[in-house]
Amino acid sequence: MLDVAIIGGGPAALSAALNCRQRNKTVCVFGRSLDSSLLFAAEKVDNYLGIPEVNGEELLNQFYTHAVKKDVEFQECRVTQILNMGEHYMINAENNFIEAKAVILATGLSKSKGIAGEMEYLGKGVSYCATCDGMLYKDKKVVVVSENEEGEAEANFLADICKEVLYIPLHKTITNLKNSVGVLSAKPMAVKGTGDKLTALVTDKEEIPCDGIFFAKDTLPPDSLIYGLKTDGKNIEVDRRMATNLPFVYAAGDCTGAPYQIAKAVGEGLIAALSVVSDIDKMKKE
Ligand SMILES: Cc1cc2nc3c(=O)[nH]c(=O)nc-3n(C[C@H](O)[C@H](O)[C@H](O)COP(=O)(O)OP(=O)(O)OC[C@H]3O[C@@H](n4cnc5c(N)ncnc54)[C@H](O)[C@@H]3O)c2cc1C
Repeated sequence: MLDVAIIGGGPAALSAALNCRQRNKTVCVFGRSLDSSLLFAAEKVDNYLGIPEVNGEELLNQFYTHAVKKDVEFQECRVTQILNMGEHYMINAENNFIEAKAVILATGLSKSKGIAGEMEYLGKGVSYCATCDGMLYKDKKVVVVSENEEGEAEANFLADICKEVLYIPLHKTITNLKNSVGVLSAKPMAVKGTGDKLTALVTDKEEIPCDGIFFAKDTLPPDSLIYGLKTDGKNIEVDRRMATNLPFVYAAGDCTGAPYQIAKAVGEGLIAALSVVSDIDKMKKE
């Protein structure tokens, strides 16, 4: 079991990982490709102390190389769910299930907008993870709405379980979809239901009656990643130790709110690492 699972891949995650490793904790960073970090898009950074006029991509590569040199493991993947198992956490990294004593969330700014009714029906028909919840829709009709090609694998998985699967791509090309999956070009507008039961996806073209809707997104709202996480709008609520309301779960960087700056992300990553190390060591002694 890992000591610390870090979800992210930008400056906050890499800083947290480096500082956990320096205190001899086993750690793995579960992050999407480096170019998905906001820093990658910065043409010129001139406010990071000691490294003037640097290109964002270069700086990120320096952070990454430093962390890997210090034995930080980096797994390129999208984490879809983190389950609280009582004494530890279970990370679902594209169907690899990894156990960790503690979690640091460093997922960056949540770009996920969501549609009307999406959060209301989360867990009542709306899901972000086909392999976690697919069996609940055995012999039923589901719709997969996908921002990226990874959604095709989700739809293919569901095609073996469900009576009918409709795929709505919000990305350009379809590369590997089973023939049994129907494809629809439409803009999802709202999730509809009666009481606790989801009944349809409303699009700009038609209303599609269905039992479940799976959203495959580039970034998930943080509170959909882990049940019970307290947020303030899109920001994860943390205290000065970067601890969230959940035991052994911490957060750092843009996902905790403004200012959206590298130095803040790196600093919060360090604080989260120090807090997690101290809490794990305390637990060992008890
Ligand atoms: C154009 C531009 C210019 C900027 N210029 C500056 C500047 O000059 N100075 C400055 O201080 N700041 C600047 N910033 C802001 C800076 O880039 C951010 O504050 C910083 O990158 C935040 O780091 P982070 O680690 O919190 O988030 P990010 O760098 O956004 O990293 C988050 C990472 O987590 C990954 N992730 C999210 N969800 C998941 C998941 N479920 N599973 C796996 N991985 C996931 C994302 O894909 C991403 O790689 C700029 C930003 C932009 C866009």
